[in-house]
Amino acid sequence: MKKLTSWGKYPLINANIIIPTTRQHLAGLELTGIGRGLGRSYGDSALSEQVIVSENLNHFISFDEENGLLRCEAGVSLDNILTVFVPKGWFLSVTPGTKFVTIGGAIASDVHGKNHHLEGSFSDHVTSLTLVISDKEITCSRNNNPELFHATCGGMGLTGIITEATFKLKPIKSAYINQKIVKAKNLNTALELFEQYKDVTYSVAWIDCLSTGSNLGRSLLMLGEHADKGKLKTHKDGLLNMPCDMPSFLLNKYTIQAFNSAYYNKQLKEEVNSTIHYDPFFYPLDGINNWNRMYGGNGFTQYQFVIPKEAGKEGLTEILEAIAESKQGSFLAVLKVFGKGNQNLLSFPMEGYTLALDFKLNDKLFSLLDHLDIIVRKYDGRLYLSKDVRISEEMFKASYPQWEAFQTLRTEYGADELYHSLQSKRIGL
Ligand SMILES: Cc1cc2nc3c(=O)[nH]c(=O)nc-3n(C[C@H](O)[C@H](O)[C@H](O)COP(=O)(O)OP(=O)(O)OC[C@H]3O[C@@H](n4cnc5c(N)ncnc54)[C@H](O)[C@@H]3O)c2cc1C
Repeated sequence: MKKLTSWGKYPLINANIIIPTTRQHLAGLELTGIGRGLGRSYGDSALSEQVIVSENLNHFISFDEENGLLRCEAGVSLDNILTVFVPKGWFLSVTPGTKFVTIGGAIASDVHGKNHHLEGSFSDHVTSLTLVISDKEITCSRNNNPELFHATCGGMGLTGIITEATFKLKPIKSAYINQKIVKAKNLNTALELFEQYKDVTYSVAWIDCLSTGSNLGRSLLMLGEHADKGKLKTHKDGLLNMPCDMPSFLLNKYTIQAFNSAYYNKQLKEEVNSTIHYDPFFYPLDGINNWNRMYGGNGFTQYQFVIPKEAGKEGLTEILEAIAESKQGSFLAVLKVFGKGNQNLLSFPMEGYTLALDFKLNDKLFSLLDHLDIIVRKYDGRLYLSKDVRISEEMFKASYPQWEAFQTLRTEYGADELYHSLQSKRIGL
């Protein structure tokens, strides 16, 4: 037994950690518990009394250059892929805000990036995957065992252990991104700008979530397109390191307010254009190793919700007002637009707006988040399971209408008897 936690550093549990050496070894062990990649999910979805870690399943299997189809084992990370494939002129079709996630984790969470409105989520580019249920390896795709495919993509590891996948990379001419940053004086302007720039491939807004009144939702909208010019140069390792947990009193409403104000005002012009490497554009936080220590020893959580587009302005306003009033600000508040969701049973994205907020854990936080849940539900929204550590079974079941079909399929394959996380038990799966 070893101490184990995930990115939010809460909860910390004792777990039996199993690291199979090969795929054959994995199937032979008939393991129970939950699959785990690099532990970059924030809460308790990759925590269980036993976890099966994919770190040795780290081999590339084949690459079809004509179609950009990469086949690799599930423990290969996005970092590994970028290092090998950017110099050859290929990029990930979809990437989350950190490259330190595995292919297994990206599929199980059906991760999204800054291009969801145009290019969907990670699993939309997966053509086939293989998973182990008990001692059997089953391959599935949209045509072969499609129900299992749509349950596994976004299924939070609850259908089995993903061992390999084949997915599409996209061709690029340069490792650089043409970036435009536009200032939005409030939420209305930010939403108008998202609409104005809806054809731009990548977009995301950083929001000052402590500003109020006519400044409510003031933000910086960051837009990007792959550049045509510039070398196919891959990223370097992060240079800075957060050596230990920061004393948690350093992060309070005053320091967060000062940071947010300085960040918003660092750009004086309404619009700034530049060309930057993909690494700071997609992965600004990866530059500091162990940045999660900034939140102190008690840890933190990320509250990420999506609400349907029609309810966008009203719902986001109500939520931002509730946060500003609570004075429990967040260093990181990121707004994105989602396009249509896919057929995966538990996939998070639906057409609308998604806001992600980091909060330091403290005694008052969960009551604020319970209050935000009520608002999210009122507008028919839902929360992202990969970030969650606290939602109730009731909230989950009310907002993921396909949970019953998911559970029926789990039972059909016997996966309900084998695979559980702390989160799945909490939400009734
Ligand atoms: C800084 C940062 C930024 C992020 N930005 C985004 C973002 O923009 N968009 C987004 O969607 N997410 C984002 N995330 C969340 C992250 O992409 C997901 O949590 C991802 O699943 C983590 O991958 P992992 O390999 O670390 O998986 P883990 O955290 O180890 O596991 C996550 C889930 O995947 C399952 N899993 C992992 N490996 C396997 C396997 N081999 N077989 C079966 N199940 C498996 C686990 O059981 C668990 O349910 C971000 C996280 C961080 C820390």
